[in-house]
Amino acid sequence: MTVLVVGSVALDSVETPFGKADDVLGGSGTFFSSSASHFVPVQLVGVVGSDYPMDKLAPLAARGVDMAGLEHAEGESFRWRGRYRHDLNSAETLETRLGVFSHFKPKIPAQFRNAPFVFLANIDQRLQLEVLQQVERPKLVACDTMNFWIESRRTDLLTLLGKVDLITLNDGEARQLTEHANLVKAARWILDRGPTHVIIKKGEHGAFMFTRESIFFAPAYPLEDIFDPTGAGDSFAGGFIGYLARTGDLSEANLRRAVVYGSAMGSFAVEGFSTTRLLEIGREDIERRVQAFARLVAFDAANLA
Ligand code: AMP
Repeated sequence: MTVLVVGSVALDSVETPFGKADDVLGGSGTFFSSSASHFVPVQLVGVVGSDYPMDKLAPLAARGVDMAGLEHAEGESFRWRGRYRHDLNSAETLETRLGVFSHFKPKIPAQFRNAPFVFLANIDQRLQLEVLQQVERPKLVACDTMNFWIESRRTDLLTLLGKVDLITLNDGEARQLTEHANLVKAARWILDRGPTHVIIKKGEHGAFMFTRESIFFAPAYPLEDIFDPTGAGDSFAGGFIGYLARTGDLSEANLRRAVVYGSAMGSFAVEGFSTTRLLEIGREDIERRVQAFARLVAFDAANLA
């Protein structure tokens, strides 16, 4: 089954304790597509400006990402500049230049409108709402957001919560949105506003999936070297939704497996700058890492003293 994603297609400039990269492939839609395309065909909707080096997107097209919904507009592409200090869990945004995104109106091509899985990656909540008006009864709609939009689009985000099945956000964003310091309370606050599932990511400390009845936790893969955390969240979402779309199974047990696939894809994303690592791995690397996750949390609960 296909996945439709609407998100930013950006040029990122990133500084980490291990190096620096300028104007590299970035954006929530780009990272999501790089990850989800390991599982299913992806349809990407977004906008780039006249300055976008389109050859940088060729590896995505080669992975089967359909870019019929990628608009080319006159003007500057979306640019994000961020820095990570020694705490690699949180990015410090140095600059966000919306460029062509400030006038963007997403137009979902007719052939994308019946996509069974829809991911509203991190973009303006008003654009996410416009997308929902154009799609036909997806099996699952999930969304993401970030501090930038929680500050400026709070009302729209609350409307959106009533229309999605699932939201992914990191712990800081969950606290900012709900004004609850405790994440269990924060998740309940969100569940009370519409979604049946809330995923709260905690960077190198793993990810929780909350429903009204249950809490599931998956650790982050303990890597020895992390080069660039940018895009880990979107890659997590790509693995999570991609796996659900490949299996077509929305049972609780499968959603839990999907969280582990998401965590595996997030762990690959941070092993290299930009999308480099995500675009060089294959199916076997992914399966091997998922098996490593299973070993990481396996213990004998049958023989507790
Ligand atoms: P992540 O690290 O997964 O949370 O996402 C990082 C990506 O989000 C970067 O590639 C940025 O280009 C993109 N990004 C940063 N700020 C924004 C924003 N305000 N709206 C949309 N995308 C953004």
